[in-house]
Parts: sequence; structure tokens; C-alpha cells
Amino acid sequence: MRKPDIFDEIIQCLKTGAQTGADATVSEEILHDFYSRPARKTPPAPVGGQPALQARTAHSPARDGIPPAYAPDIPEWESLRTECASCMNCGLGRTRTNMVFADGNPHAELMFIGEGPGADEDATGVPFVGRAGELLSRMIAAMTFDRATETCIANIVKCRPPGNRNPADDEAAACMPYLKRQIAMVHPKVIVLLGAVPLLYLFNLKGIMRLRGRWLDYEGIPVMPTYHPAFLLRNPPAKKDAWTDLQAVMAVFGRKPAPRR
Ligand code: URA
Repeated sequence: MRKPDIFDEIIQCLKTGAQTGADATVSEEILHDFYSRPARKTPPAPVGGQPALQARTAHSPARDGIPPAYAPDIPEWESLRTECASCMNCGLGRTRTNMVFADGNPHAELMFIGEGPGADEDATGVPFVGRAGELLSRMIAAMTFDRATETCIANIVKCRPPGNRNPADDEAAACMPYLKRQIAMVHPKVIVLLGAVPLLYLFNLKGIMRLRGRWLDYEGIPVMPTYHPAFLLRNPPAKKDAWTDLQAVMAVFGRKPAPRR
């Protein structure tokens, strides 16, 4: 059985309410993280010098009621999905089982961008459904977001690189116009980059260890790079740093992890 981690503790805390004292189910250290640690860095000033949360209103009316996942009311989204499904712009088109377009809600204000599909994603056509996906789901739950309705999840490449290798430069370049169109349609309030691959291909930057937790800007959208869940599975102590990064994202949405008693 999997050992509970920081995200399990936070989710448990959300379910039961924070407890302190001898019968606390959440460690003092994690409660301290919840309530005392300020978000370390604020988002970059967006274009035009407006506060980030007021600068972009293009999609706000559509978000008043949360639309269902795969919102069929965005014909452009569905027609892009159809376009991607028959794409042969790189060699990955020949080896895929399923093209993996996105998961969640294209109206979401929070977007996650990973590397590319693995075996489970290739088999199902849905991003982040394997072990790394299970961890990502718990990270999102700890952030108090609902994965299906409040996030949109996509990848640098939409077809599985064989053997789970990183996407090659030409594969990322061939897929990038699709991702850029997705970002433009979702127009999220914040993007979270999962690991070194999206950092490289969206920003041409190397050094996720150095750059995680630092706000970047993609066409006026604040972007937070953090560790990829697969890395966190191999390096559990890094989950604390990832949680710090995610708390900075939560702060943009004015969300707190759990009620203070
Ligand atoms: N890792 C990724 O980066 N994306 C997925 O969809 C699954 C695993």
C-alpha cells in the first residue's frame, strides 16, 4: 500500500477541518505550512500594469456557472480535438494508440501543462491517468480545486513518445501550435508547468530545480513552474517544495488550504 504523503494529509485536513493538540491528524509542520508560510513570490506584473486578476476578463462570463467537462459549447475546442486526432505532423502519429488532447474543463481558470502521454494515457486517450496522474489529482485536490471542472490539463505533445522518453525537439515543435491554440482558448488565469519539458519548450529555459517556484509570464498569463509528479514519485522529499509552489498559485485565487480553527 502507498504511504500517505503531504497531499494525503492536506486532503484529510480539508475533509475533517484542521485539528490541533494531542489528537491532531495533521502534523504541526504541515499546519504551519498551511497557515504561516506566506506565498513567497507574487505573479509578475501583467502587460499594461494592471493587477493580474483584473487584467483579464475575456472569459469571465462563461465561468459564472461552471460548465461540464469537455464543454461541448466550445466548437473550436472540439474541432481542434478532431484536427489533432488525425495529425501526422511528426513520427509519433504513426506509433500512437490514442491522441491525448486534454482533460478537465476548457473554461477552467487553472491550467496544468505536462510533458506527454505515457502508456496509460496512450491506452485511454486521457492525460495524467497513471501513477503520476493519481498524484497530480491529489495535488489538485489539496489545492482545493476540482480536477474535472476547475482545471484543464494538457501536454507538450499529444502522442506518446515510445518508451516514455522525453519528446524530441521536432516532435515538440510539431505539436506546439496545437498547445498554443489550446492555451489561447482556455485563457486561464494561471498556468502550472509540470517539470523540465514544458519549461524548455514553452520558455526555452533549462533548470527546473532553479526555476521552480518562480513566476514566469506567458502572454500576460502568470506561469508557475513546479516539479513533475513523476519526479515527485521518485523524490518524495521534493513534494514539500512542490506544495510551496502550489500554495503560491492558490494565493492568486485567494484560496486557503483549510479552515482555521
Ligand atoms: N506525464 C505527463 O507529462 N503527461 C501525462 O499525460 C502523463 C504523464
